[in-house]
Parts: sequence; structure tokens; C-alpha cells
Amino acid sequence: MFDKLIGNNPNKEVFQRLIKTDRVPHSLLFVGKNGVGRKQFALGIAKSFVCLTPNDSIACNNCKNCVRASKFDFPKPDDKDTHKQVIFSEHPDIGMVIPYKKNILVDTIRELEKEANFLPFEAKARFFIIDAAEKMNDAAANALLKTLEEPAETTYIFLISSRPSSLLPTILSRCQMVRFAPIPFKEVEDYLLSTEKYPSEDAKLIAKLSRGSIGNALEINLEKYREQRNKLLDVIDNLSLNRGFSNILKTAEELCDPKNKDDYENNLVILQVLIHDVWSLQNKQNPQIINFDIEPSLKKMSQTIETQKLTKWLDEIETLRENLKSNLNRKIATDALFMQMAR
Ligand SMILES: [Zn+2]
Repeated sequence: MFDKLIGNNPNKEVFQRLIKTDRVPHSLLFVGKNGVGRKQFALGIAKSFVCLTPNDSIACNNCKNCVRASKFDFPKPDDKDTHKQVIFSEHPDIGMVIPYKKNILVDTIRELEKEANFLPFEAKARFFIIDAAEKMNDAAANALLKTLEEPAETTYIFLISSRPSSLLPTILSRCQMVRFAPIPFKEVEDYLLSTEKYPSEDAKLIAKLSRGSIGNALEINLEKYREQRNKLLDVIDNLSLNRGFSNILKTAEELCDPKNKDDYENNLVILQVLIHDVWSLQNKQNPQIINFDIEPSLKKMSQTIETQKLTKWLDEIETLRENLKSNLNRKIATDALFMQMAR
């Protein structure tokens, strides 16, 4: 089971030992960025308890029970009633709690509390995975606390979070924390190549863009990325040559078009990474750039744009990204950004 997970070998070793010696803690908090395998890992531990043909105590991932434990029928995003339930896999002792819109509902945690007190139906224990646990509000967190304080002997609760600092200290103190590091890009690349779905140059670019997350890597649409990147390269080109400000404003308009709303911050990130690549080519001995496939164009830019300008641009984009957290008018802010950058 664990050998199918990419990266984070130290965690695998520790948990293999804990599973073999039956010492898995009953409350765990898996911390790390989205897509580094925390949920799969938590599920892997649960599967080891239900597996029919374990391999040295570790889930085989192939038997009937392992397959059932992997199958969840998640509700549609607007189906509030089903979100109030614990979502069980096809195995009745492995359940998951997921947020409804931006919050984990207190009703769902109350359901969990009930379920956590039941004896297992089939397995030796019951497992509950709470995804995006930082989305519990205080009421939900306090409801969970009761369960964490007096856990049934046969109940395991695994919290998953990318922002553990948003959890109540009382919750944190009840859980043992397991940290997941981003996966080195070479490992992401090797994984993508092993699926035989990607040409090698694409696998390398996707791996570099994945920020150490298999989940991110699988979601990247390279064709769309290249299209967005071309537009933003034009912005840098126009800015560096102090020409074509009307072109830049046209791009700003496109970026802020409501139909591109979900891509807005991503576009800022692409722009930032491009500028950082140019900066690296200019200032680093051995630059490891992300956009290696367009190195010649970036190199050309690095020969004409002053370092000071590049660092100023990076700061300005970072400030805008910070300000996105408050409700700012994106159109005005983007025009202002490009005007600042043109100075
Ligand atoms: Zn199995």
C-alpha cells in the first residue's frame, strides 16, 4: 500500500512499524500542502486494519476490502443534507467528513460523534478521516473535542489539514502531528512518466509546476498553461521595452474578465514565476528555472531588464496577491499593478 505513495519515506517507515506493532495513535493530524498524499496515507493506515491479505501487516491494496475502502460516493457540492452525514466508503468502518462549501458543519461532527461510539461492523476498528479540518468553526471543533477526549477503544480519528495554525489549540493538543513534505520534483516527474501518459518534456514541465504535489500535477492542463503563459510573456516583453501599454491593458482586462475569475490568482503566479525565472537566469550561477522549455526567450529578457526592476515587479505582484485576501476590485488593482510595473 505505502509503496504506491510517492515521497515522504520517513513517514512510511514510522507507520509501517506502528501498524506492525499495533501502536497507531487514535488521533492523528496529517499536515502538509494539498496533494502531497496525506489523505491516501491516512486511508492506507485504515486499509491495513481491514485488509484480507495484508503483506507483513500492511494493506495489499488489491483484496476485496482494500478496494471497498477506496470507494467513496461523494455528494454533489450543493447537497447540504448529505454533507451533514459522515460519508462512508463501501466499507462500513471507514468514513470521511468533508466540508460543505467553506465549512465543516457542526451537524456533521455530531454525526461523527455518534458513529465514533459504535462498535465496528466488520473490522477490528472504525476509522474517520476529517478532510480540511481547519474548516471546522469553533462549534464544530468543540463538538469534535468531546470525541477526541474520550475516544472509544476501537475508534481512530485522522484529521487532514494544510493550515494547522487555524485549528483550536485544544484540538492540536489532542492529536499527534505527522508532517508531509512537498515531493521532490524529480519524483513527481518519474511518477508522471511511469503512467506513460506524458511525453517526457511535458512530464518535466508539469513536475516543475506542481509545487511538490502529485495532486496538483494531475490537475495541470499544459495546453491551457502554455496559452496563459504566452499572454503573460507578452506583458513582460512589452513592459521591458516600454511599449504597447494598450496591449498590456487589454491583457489586464482579459485577466479580470469574470469568465476567467478562477484563473486570476493562478495567472499572477505564472507571471511571478516567469519573472523569477528571468531573474534567476540573470543572477544565479546554476539557475534551476521552472519554464526550462522557453529558456531562450527568457534569457533574452534577462539580458535587457535590470535586476532592480525584476525584484520590484516581484514585490508588487506579491503585494497584490496579499491584498487579494481582502475584497479588492481586481480590475483596478491589476491596472494599477501594470502601471506600477511600467514605471
Ligand atoms: Zn487488502
